[in-house]
Amino acid sequence: MDNERAIGDCVLRAEAVRRHCDRMENEEFPSSEPVGLARALAETAQSLSEFLVWSRNQPSYNNKTAQLQIRAIDGIIKWLFEPLRYCEGAVTSKVPWSLVGPLQRLCTQLLPHTVLILRPKWRYNYTVLMSDIVTIIRKAVAPALPPKTLDKCVGGLNSQLHIVSFPYIERRSVFLHAALSHEIGHLVAEEFIRADKTPMPKAVLDRILQDVANDKFIKPLFKHAEAARRLRECAEYRKRAIQELGSDLVAVDILGFAALFALDAIVGMGNLDDIPSTRNTRYPPRRQRIRIMLHELEDYLPGLVDPNGLQSGTPKDCVYILKAYQERIRELEIIAGSTTDQAALKGDKVVEAAYQWLDQSLNALSQHVRSRCQGVSEVSFGQGTPRGIDFWQKACRLAHSRLNQGLPPNTDDDTKVPPAPATFEAIMNAGWLHLLSKIPARPSDVAGIASFKDQHGRAERLTLRALEMSDIQLMYNHWGGGQKV
Ligand SMILES: [Zn+2]
Repeated sequence: MDNERAIGDCVLRAEAVRRHCDRMENEEFPSSEPVGLARALAETAQSLSEFLVWSRNQPSYNNKTAQLQIRAIDGIIKWLFEPLRYCEGAVTSKVPWSLVGPLQRLCTQLLPHTVLILRPKWRYNYTVLMSDIVTIIRKAVAPALPPKTLDKCVGGLNSQLHIVSFPYIERRSVFLHAALSHEIGHLVAEEFIRADKTPMPKAVLDRILQDVANDKFIKPLFKHAEAARRLRECAEYRKRAIQELGSDLVAVDILGFAALFALDAIVGMGNLDDIPSTRNTRYPPRRQRIRIMLHELEDYLPGLVDPNGLQSGTPKDCVYILKAYQERIRELEIIAGSTTDQAALKGDKVVEAAYQWLDQSLNALSQHVRSRCQGVSEVSFGQGTPRGIDFWQKACRLAHSRLNQGLPPNTDDDTKVPPAPATFEAIMNAGWLHLLSKIPARPSDVAGIASFKDQHGRAERLTLRALEMSDIQLMYNHWGGGQKV
């Protein structure tokens, strides 16, 4: 194709990006980020096509050298259309939109200057795009556009922007969406990994080298290469474990037991002692994940197991509500109490070495996560408030006097003016308390399926409504409207 026609095609493609973006501006979104991203993509495509036309009219234009430039810019314009799928998926009708505001707040409090777009995926997977989409666009376009023009195009996106995905089939499953805190947690774990300088312990290094030296099936010529491969693998297994366990720690530090229950429910019925391998993308054993999360949640437990504390100032029915929670926790404690996963790790020498190295980093990882989560004040009772009796009394009140009565659990103290909005953490735990104490695990028979679905649907709607209402209340209080009431 000649250059003239190729430039014309680029102009038309840029226009297609613009048209798609315009259509999106007429859609409804629960936050401003999707439209902001769509606009930036359209502006960038437009500027690239205008730049091509401008270059064509310069006296220095060279038909031969211009070919490469046109091809490169055409590739970028085609690529700019791809991220529009994130915007398209983020429309209000496709996401649990009440959750977007609290999640956005959580993300920005955890990691300043960081925002997200929540969108569904047809595949059953909760994920986060680790690369910031704004940086990706800037890097892709920087060689083709002057910095000032590029700033004008993407200047509206002045935060890091990450795409967080949930399985579409679970759109309304707000209780499982507590797992989204794990996905945001990946960004915190990555910070730790970037700053991590912990060297491989000498004992681990020596052991891997010794294993290779003793292995009679490896020919002498290949010993060095094999040792290097195993050392790389060892580092990779450790890194992967930090990513997952660090994200789990963030999840439970932010949303408490609600996050643990959700993560466990999502993993489903997989083997508890599956050791990391390339087949399971090097996931740590499920039993270890449960153990580490339970350990992190120890602050919660005194209030949960102290019946005297609960009875004072707590509605009587709450003791019954808490019992269901305690039973679920007890089941998980039994799982965590076994060490069969540790024994299974010994089945692979490289994995065993990696987890030996990991053990030396877990304290530092936990401290890093806690220091980050301390900054999260409005979604969690965690900051400065012991998660003891007080927490459980509040969460139980929300379940007992709100959800059980068919009301959204959006405020935990109506006597205050303005009312204190219930936190993200309290609402999610109230939802789980209600779920475990009031809704049976399964329909008792086929005739009961309709009422089972109805009970679940109602609890999900009320919890989502509470998240939305408490978010609005929080904004209203910040704005200062509350004082004028
Ligand atoms: Zn993960």
